[in-house]
Amino acid sequence: MIVMKPAATQEEVDAVVDRVNSVGARAHVIYGEELTVIGAIGDAEHVARLNLEGAPGVDHMVPISKPYKLASSQITHGTRSVLDIAGRKVGGDQFAMIAGPCTIESREQTLSTAHIVADAGATMFRGGAYKPRTSPYAFQGLGQEGLRLLAEAKAQTGLPIVTEVMDARDLEPVLEVADVIQIGARNMQNYTLLSEIGRSGCPALIKRGLASTLEELLMAAEYVLKEGNESVMLCERGIRTFETSYRFTLDLMAIPVLKEMTHLPVIVDPSHAAGRRDLVAPMSLAAAAAGADGLIVEVHPNPDEAICDAAQQLVADEFPEYLDRVRAAAAVGGKALWEQPVASGR
Ligand code: PEP
Ligand code: MN
Repeated sequence: MIVMKPAATQEEVDAVVDRVNSVGARAHVIYGEELTVIGAIGDAEHVARLNLEGAPGVDHMVPISKPYKLASSQITHGTRSVLDIAGRKVGGDQFAMIAGPCTIESREQTLSTAHIVADAGATMFRGGAYKPRTSPYAFQGLGQEGLRLLAEAKAQTGLPIVTEVMDARDLEPVLEVADVIQIGARNMQNYTLLSEIGRSGCPALIKRGLASTLEELLMAAEYVLKEGNESVMLCERGIRTFETSYRFTLDLMAIPVLKEMTHLPVIVDPSHAAGRRDLVAPMSLAAAAAGADGLIVEVHPNPDEAICDAAQQLVADEFPEYLDRVRAAAAVGGKALWEQPVASGR
């Protein structure tokens, strides 16, 4: 990590970047509020031989000992990343509420849910068109038709869309509608997919694998960041433990620990962790109070009839009241739910 002097000029930054690139390393420039930092990813010895300490504009160099470099909190000097998703801020003191059905099933189900969550104040709309199902015989999602319905929900409500891609071959149509691409828990270590999403430049929400460590989650984020895509959010969605009373164990300790390890926003998914509707509200409140940057929850107009994850989806009509409670818990965690700025004038 090459820390530039506060008064370093753009020419000096560019000169360092050129020299880093000249030895086959990759330079990532991070413009902070006070300082510019250049991450040099590559052979440390080659970079050391450049003798950049003392070069014009360079203040000092710091080796990053962690295997995740661009994701580490060290590289931003502890400053937290705030993402801009179609005008919505995620991270910092902003709290994001991502809500919508597990699966896009029909036009009526999609649009009615989108309007309810939008009117209540959700930040983004979620819904799967390509679904990772344990059984190959289970419904696999509506695919392109699902994407079309998501586009309609976006056009009607203005909510940015979060949707999963499982296969890089589907990336092109998904990119036409997605504001955030979800990488599901089962794909967290699909490194070719992660790199492809990195190259696409589309913001990514990476879910923690069912049995992955936080370091492995950050290494997954590193694959996206390494391609120059800085818009990455991490998502804790429950991990496998010996406990069988609920689907997964929601690891809330991951929130403060990830915040120590990384500058990236941390989102929590209580729906998939719990597998049960009654646990979603208490775990949402706990996550928000613990300082999560947002939640992603499943909401359905009639959960009992849902094709997928029926037991865990919140009842859409109950969502406004749930969101009011989340707002209060987010305030405990030091954050405010993102609000649509009120248009001035007439
Ligand atoms: C989902 O969010 O729809 C999903 C399948 O989640 P996960 O990958 O966390 O199981
Ligand atoms: Mn689901």
